Order: sequence, then structure tokens, then C-alpha cells
Amino acid sequence: MSDDNGSVDVLVIGAGPSGCAAGVVLARAGLRVRVIDRASFPRPKVCGDALSNRAIAIIGALGAGDALAAAPHADVLGALALLPDGSSIPRDYGAARGMIVGRLDLDALLVRALVASGAELREGVAADDLVVEGGAVVGARVGATVMRARAVLAADGPGSVATRALGVAKPRGRGLAISATAYYEGVTGALREGWSEHWFDPSLPYGYGWIFPAVEGVANVGVYLRRDGYDARGVALGALFERFLEQHRDRFAGARRVGAVRTWQLPLSDLGVRVGMPGLLTTGDAGRHVDPLTGEGIWQALRTGEIAGEVCAEAMRAGALDDAAVRRYRWRVAREVDAPATVRGRIQDGMQALVASGLYRRPELQALLKWGYGSGALEVSKSVAG
Ligand SMILES: Cc1cc2nc3c(=O)[nH]c(=O)nc-3n(C[C@H](O)[C@H](O)[C@H](O)COP(=O)(O)OP(=O)(O)OC[C@H]3O[C@@H](n4cnc5c(N)ncnc54)[C@H](O)[C@@H]3O)c2cc1C
Repeated sequence: MSDDNGSVDVLVIGAGPSGCAAGVVLARAGLRVRVIDRASFPRPKVCGDALSNRAIAIIGALGAGDALAAAPHADVLGALALLPDGSSIPRDYGAARGMIVGRLDLDALLVRALVASGAELREGVAADDLVVEGGAVVGARVGATVMRARAVLAADGPGSVATRALGVAKPRGRGLAISATAYYEGVTGALREGWSEHWFDPSLPYGYGWIFPAVEGVANVGVYLRRDGYDARGVALGALFERFLEQHRDRFAGARRVGAVRTWQLPLSDLGVRVGMPGLLTTGDAGRHVDPLTGEGIWQALRTGEIAGEVCAEAMRAGALDDAAVRRYRWRVAREVDAPATVRGRIQDGMQALVASGLYRRPELQALLKWGYGSGALEVSKSVAG
């Protein structure tokens, strides 16, 4: 095996939201950064396409705010949590609007910001494995060559190449969610124009079905549920998606599906999981940070990418990305991302109990839910202010 010419300070694997955020921070810190992605941009990504207000803020900080505003999008003014008896709980976002932006566009504009920051991007290049020497990650194997770096950030989504080096088990049970989504044009009867709809139903345990505001006439529609609930229910994901459409057949009567129904997995936030080792940090879906209650993962990918970039740059100025730096990263990510998500996982358990038992109809519990969602304390939507 030969070494790739020109070793760099940091090798980032994956140029999705997380890898781009990390790459921009590292390049701005003056480090030589190479970001590789097995795909070439623009590339599609299975997603609900919802950006929260806090995700939009990071995209602006990465230098892509104008490009985001110019991309095809829908503003999201608020979210409705809809309960099985037809009652609804509104959450008005006010000034903290969200957006729906297709990932083909979003990820392409992030990659442009990455290149503008001075990072080197290599597309169509897949990492096969990490190279570990003396207990530290020193690069990645790409076909017959080794790309060496003083540090590696794995931002390569679920099924990351880092899993093996870290010795972590694949997520399952309550650590994983699954989702099916498709685009439809001609969906009618939005309950509130410009608002996201999250439909709770006993057929989607620990999850919900969504209909999002249309972008240029095309709406993102999908179902999301936690893996343990899915396994216990024993109905195929495709059938659950069809059932959701059937429940809203009046809305889809004149609608046409654009493209295929696509399914994918979401690794949910896990405080206990190992997120790095000497020479390596994992970020975004590769490090498992998706919010269990909402399925939001883009902000988490951007934010963990930023934090990893900051911790890595600081550690390299001091010498190397060592155990102490990994602990600093774990601590910052736990505090900002994983600890709040753990609480929200408990809220999800409570919500599931209320929906499955029908207890949500009791006036005192309805009042609690209305207060919680309306105030944002039990945020269910994908737009979260701060
Ligand atoms: C159906 C569904 C709906 C969702 N809806 C929403 C939503 O509405 N809002 C929200 O905030 N989140 C949503 N999420 C979650 C969100 O999509 C992810 O959390 C987010 O994309 C994670 O970003 P990332 O950069 O970590 O990984 P990714 O976006 O997956 O990017 C990883 C990149 O790494 C590359 N890569 C992978 N392996 C390799 C390799 N070996 N070598 C080189 N490159 C590699 C890939 O090509 C890809 O470009 C949804 C997820 C799903 C599945």
C-alpha cells in the first residue's frame, strides 16, 4: 500500500453538513484540510429537508447565508402537532422561522462554502477504513493508498468507517429510528399555509407522520418512528407510509408522487457512545446525535462539526488530538447536544404513552401538552430557537 502524496493536517471523511462545518472551521483556523466524499455534488440525500432556526444560523456563520436565501425553499412559520382525535397544538415560530430546503441544494451550497474557506475537496473518493498505528488514528485507507493526516474527522453518516476502530456496536432499539419519505406535487388542504404538520398516531409508535410546506409546489411527506416501536409493531415501513397517505387521502386525491419512496435510518443521540480516540473525532450521524423526539439531525451535524473543528484546531496547536482533546469534545457535545436529547427521549416515551392509551384527551393532559408545545418547552417541531 502506498501513501497518497501531500499529507495534510486534518482529513475529513464526508462532505455532508457535518463535514462541511468542520472543514470550514479548520480551514479558517489556518490548518491544511482535505475533505473527501464518495459522492459528487450536487447529490441527493434522503431527508425531510427541514432546517431549524438554529441550523440556519450556523449556515450563515459558515458563510452560506446568502446562498441559502437564494436557494429554492419554503419558509416555515410554525408547526402543528396533530393528535389522533383531530385536535391540534400550534407552535408559532415568530421571528425564529425555519425553512424547507432540498438536500440537493443545501449540501451543494455548503460544499461551495467549504471550498471558499480554503479547504481542499475531493469528490468521488471513498474511505474504506481507518488506519490505526500505536493506538492512534493516522489516516484512512482509500483503495490501495493511505491518506495520512495528523487528525481524522469522521463525518460520513450512519455506517461510518470509524465504527470499527472505536469498537462500538451498531445502534439498535431505542438508539435508532427509521423513516420513509417521498415528494408529492399537488398536495392540497394545508391546515395552515406555511406551517409544518406533525401527525401523531398509534400506528407510528414513538414517531409521527409529516407533511411539510411545499417548495416550488412539491411537498416532502414522510413517516418517522423509533426502531423498537417499529419492531414491536411488525408492519413494514412501506405499508406504514401508505397507511399515512390513506389517512389523508383527501389531501392527496389530486397529488402526484415525484420520484421514489425512499427509506433510511437515523442514529439517535446516545450519551454513552464513544465519539473519538487519539487522532479521531466522529461528528453528525457518524457520531449519533439525531434528536429522538423530532428526528432533527442537520443542526446536530452542523454543530458537532463546528465543535469538532474548534477542539481539533486547538489540540493541534498544542501538539496533537490526544485523549484529553477527545474528552473535551465529548463534554462539549454532551452538554449542548446529547444531554438535552436524552431528556427529549423521555418526553418521547411520555408522548407515546399518552397517544397509545388515549390519555392525551384528558383535559388536564391536553392543557399540559398545549403549554409544553405552545411554549416550546416540549418542542416537537423541527424549528427550535436556541
Ligand atoms: C428520512 C429522513 C428524514 C430526515 N429529516 C430531517 C429533517 O427534516 N431535518 C433534519 O434536521 N434532519 C433530518 N434528518 C436527519 C439528517 O438527514 C441527518 O442527521 C444529517 O444529514 C446528518 O448529516 P451528516 O453530515 O452527519 O451526514 P450525511 O448528511 O449523511 O453526510 C455524510 C456524507 O458522507 C459521505 N460518505 C459516506 N461514507 C463515506 C465514505 N466511506 N467515504 C467518503 N465519504 C463518505 C456521503 O456521501 C455523504 O455526503 C432526516 C433523516 C432521514 C433519514
